[in-house]
Formats: sequence, C-alpha cells, structure tokens
Amino acid sequence: MNNKFYITTAIDYVNDTIHIGHAFQKVAADVLARYQRTILGKENVFFLTGTDEYGKKAEQAADKAGISSSEFVKKISDSDQKEQDALNISYDRFIRTTDKDHTKVVEEIWNRVKDAGKIYPGEYTGLYCEGCEAYYNQNELVDGKCPIHPNGEIKKVTEKNYFFKWSDYKDFLIKHIKDNKDFIFPSYRANEMLEFAKNITDIPISRKDFTWGVPVPEDKEQVVYVWFDALANYLTGVGFLKDKKLFEKFWPADIHILGKDNLRWHALLWPAMLKAANIELPKTILVNGFLNINGQKISKSLGNVIRPSDLVKKYGADGVRYYLLRYTNITEDSDISEEKIKQAYNSDLANGLGNLIARVAKLCENSNYSQRVPENDTSVHLIEVEGYSQALSEFKFNDALAFVWTKITNLDKYINEEKPWALSTGNSKLKSVLAHAVDQIQEIAALLEPFLPETANKIEEQFKGEKIKSSAPLFPRIN
Ligand SMILES: [Zn+2]
Repeated sequence: MNNKFYITTAIDYVNDTIHIGHAFQKVAADVLARYQRTILGKENVFFLTGTDEYGKKAEQAADKAGISSSEFVKKISDSDQKEQDALNISYDRFIRTTDKDHTKVVEEIWNRVKDAGKIYPGEYTGLYCEGCEAYYNQNELVDGKCPIHPNGEIKKVTEKNYFFKWSDYKDFLIKHIKDNKDFIFPSYRANEMLEFAKNITDIPISRKDFTWGVPVPEDKEQVVYVWFDALANYLTGVGFLKDKKLFEKFWPADIHILGKDNLRWHALLWPAMLKAANIELPKTILVNGFLNINGQKISKSLGNVIRPSDLVKKYGADGVRYYLLRYTNITEDSDISEEKIKQAYNSDLANGLGNLIARVAKLCENSNYSQRVPENDTSVHLIEVEGYSQALSEFKFNDALAFVWTKITNLDKYINEEKPWALSTGNSKLKSVLAHAVDQIQEIAALLEPFLPETANKIEEQFKGEKIKSSAPLFPRIN
C-alpha cells in the first residue's frame, strides 16, 4: 500500500460563491482525506482545494460589480473558503490561482511544453461558450446552444492564438486509459473519454481579447487559457518549484475529484500537458455527478441556490454532511431537498445515533460504571473494518455509513435484549454488558470520524474517561 495520499478537489470558478452542489464534492474529498489520515497519519496526507480566479467571466463579473478584478475575485474566494469552513472541510491548502507561486508554475509549464515543441502560433475560428470558457464543435451543441449553458450565447470567435499540439497525444492518451483501469472512475466515464479522444484536435491555449490572466511568457499581449492555467494548480499546491521535498513526497496526485462537466480537461488535456512537461501523471480521476434540488438543476436563474452555511445554521455541519454522504451516490446525479435533510436528521441522527449515545451514557452513569482506561491512549484508531473499508475503497460513502448504522441498530437491539437497567449495581453481567456497549460506541465513533468529525469528537470525549456521564443531546430534534 501507498504510504502517502494526495487528494484534490476541483477549484471553483469565482463568478459566484459556491452552493451546496459544489460542496457535495468537497465533503466527499474530505471524507477520503480524513479516512486516510487515520490510517497513514496526518503528516502523510495532503488535501488541496481552492478557487480558479482568472478568465473573461471573472473580469466581466468584476466590471459588473464596479470593482477591480483582483478585489472581486478575493471577495468570492474568501466567501468560498468560509462556505467550506462551515462544513469542516479539512484542507491543507486553499489555493488561489492568483497566488504568486502559481503564476511561476504556469510559466514553467508553458515553457516546458514549448521547449518540447508542442506549442505553436496559429489562427483559430471556433464556437465559443463564455460560460464554459471553452470551444465547442458544432455537433456538441444542443439546438445551437452550449449543453451546460442553454441560456448562454455561443459566439463564433477568430483569434491569433498559441496552440497546444494536443493531437500528438491521442494514441498516448488512449493507451494510458486502456492500460490503467483505475485512471478514471467510474469506468463508464473512461469509455466516454476513449470515444472523445478519437477526435482530439490541437487547441488554442492563449487568449487575446481580455487581460485578466497569466501573461504568455513570450507574448505579453496574450494571456494563458484558463484551463491550461487552472489545471497546473495541482502541482503548485504541493510545492512544485518551491518546496522540492514536499513535491517529491506527494506528487503524483492519488485522486483528483471533479464534476462530470470537467472530465475531459482532466482525463485528456491534463495528462497530455504533464506528459509534454515530463511530469508523472495522477493516479485516479474520480468523477462526481451533480446535485439537484427537488428534481431541478441548481441555478441562479431558477432562484433555488442554497449556500452550505445556511443549511449548517439549521442542521449543523454534521447534519448536512450526513445527508450528502448517506443519501446520494457520489458518481451519479442525486437529489436533495430541505425536507429530506430534516427527515434524515430527525430519524437517523436525533433518534438513531443520538438516542443510542444518550441511552448508554445514562446507563453507565446510573450504575456508576467505571471503565479501565489504557495508559497510553494512542488516540489514532486504525479504521480497517471489512465492509466499511471496502465501501470506501470504491467511493461508496452511502454503503460505508449504512455499515455504521447497522452497528448502531445492532447495539440498540443488544441493549433491549440484555436489559442492563434491570440488573443490580455491582452485578458482573451488568459490567460486561456495559463494557461491550461502550466498546461498540468507541468503535462507532472511530468509524464516524471521517464522515461526522464534530460528532465523533464529542462521543470520543464523552466515552474516554473512567466515568461516563450524560451530556446534552448530540442532535436535538428539529420540528
Ligand atoms: Zn457553456
């Protein structure tokens, strides 16, 4: 097994603050990072997230807001970071593509790719969607519109640009995807990319019609194409060019998690860029589906945008995390609603987990139970439980949580059958029943840590001393 783990999320574009749909992916990445930390130790895990800040859309949004681009992107980046913090996302670095060390990395990658003979000047005419900051082929449009931005405009653009010889990597990419079954997950997404790879053509990687970007090293009238710039953040994040030791420890990335709309750039453009720059390729690209609200796409124009922090105010970070992880399938589109979040909170957290913890604590308190506390509490619990670990290795967060909830149900049943409340204090059976219950709760808390970190901590605190006492309910019912 690997002795380090480097995971990245998509970096969010700063035209607006992230919503619950973006947070879905961040929470999933956070579970994997936390899970690996309990196995590998904190110092061997690196978790990167952040904001993608250059490009025409950000420049236009800043103009509209009447402030400079740099002020505007800082404002959105700060607010994105707050949204992630509200959900206890345990990133090691929150990168901004306007960070100085990132600019240097973009220039270096550009120069390496150019030195390899893979960048040339040319002229491009294409169908451009500003929403995607990307060109489309006619046959990819739906009724002449972008498939992701049906209300946006598709413009015919002709520009003098620098091109990347993407087509030189067609065979390499097809072979790499076929030879590395873990490269794209789930596998049907790999098939989509193999299809797409057949039609790869060279693409422009610079723009001339705006200035908000990293200038092309040899031509200051052009800025680097936003994808070519943004993808390199994964290198910057672990110290490429800046901290050799850190970079050599963590690169290549173990998992890039990203939305299905960003797949082709990660599965086909990014590996080609790295190959051209003579840098090792990432191991796995995990593709997440989209989140809908009440069956509808989340969008500003539909007016159904929900910020994570607003849900956290009502249901707590763990209440929101729980729903997102238990009642969705990360690789597919999933549906949420506030009604469903509330229902899951009351039934699974308030009644299920919360009641069990309160019940066992009360039994321990009433019978004056003392537990033997190990002298050297290693505090890092190894979470290697078959079923649970298996589910996590396949990114089935819902199954891993179902595994924990089976333990919760079983412990409830055990207590009902053994009726410890009917046994007198000092009875040896009472002691063994409570010892079993406390042991199970400690294991449940350890298994919950990657998913519900606040709750797991509270339970561990409550059940670690010699004497166990009742405390306030973990999840007060919400009506
Ligand atoms: Zn678009």
